[in-house]
Amino acid sequence: MNLAKADLLSEAADEIRKCQKCLLWKSRLNPVPGEGKIDSKVMLIGEAPGFHEDQQGRPFVGAAGKFLDELLAQADLSREEAYITNIVKCRPPKNREPVPDEIKACTPFLDRQIECISPKVTITLGSHAAACVLPKYGVHFEGITKIHGIFYEISTSVTKIIVPMFHPASALYNPAYKEALMKDFKSLKFRLKELL
Ligand code: URA
Ligand code: SF4
Repeated sequence: MNLAKADLLSEAADEIRKCQKCLLWKSRLNPVPGEGKIDSKVMLIGEAPGFHEDQQGRPFVGAAGKFLDELLAQADLSREEAYITNIVKCRPPKNREPVPDEIKACTPFLDRQIECISPKVTITLGSHAAACVLPKYGVHFEGITKIHGIFYEISTSVTKIIVPMFHPASALYNPAYKEALMKDFKSLKFRLKELL
């Protein structure tokens, strides 16, 4: 494991725990910096913590998280092998969607995490995460229904892949999204075999 990377990542987590850069700090119980393997090849980026995440300070530990674990299993991946975080690190009141100012204030933390982990494969979950992350790689966001499951190849010094997917929470009330997510994670399994 790369020690400098570990230090940078925990430095970011410490700053997140003290952060007051947007108003979400007032209503949060626990900030949720993210967790997982530091030299993971796969990074998952969700939207924002919900009730259970705010209670525990950990990402995706509620109902959506349970389904995410099942999806990861479809791709022969475990939570421990991935790095999981969100575009916004504190829970929006009543689980409302994060607003642009909150996303803007918080994404420098995400940028630092991406830089540290430098994942080979990035999976965005839901339209907010896709809209926030895809443009960083020069990919135009056209709506999650249109682009979910596409493997965008990003050529930097090494080839990286970014895959926008539906949010696992949306699958809990929409069977079509659930089916699409299962299918997208299944194809991820085959692509990971070629890529990693
Ligand atoms: N939904 C998200 O987007 N992130 C979490 O951590 C939990 C639910
Ligand atoms: Fe800071 Fe992000 Fe929390 Fe806002 S959501 S207070 S920017 S850590």
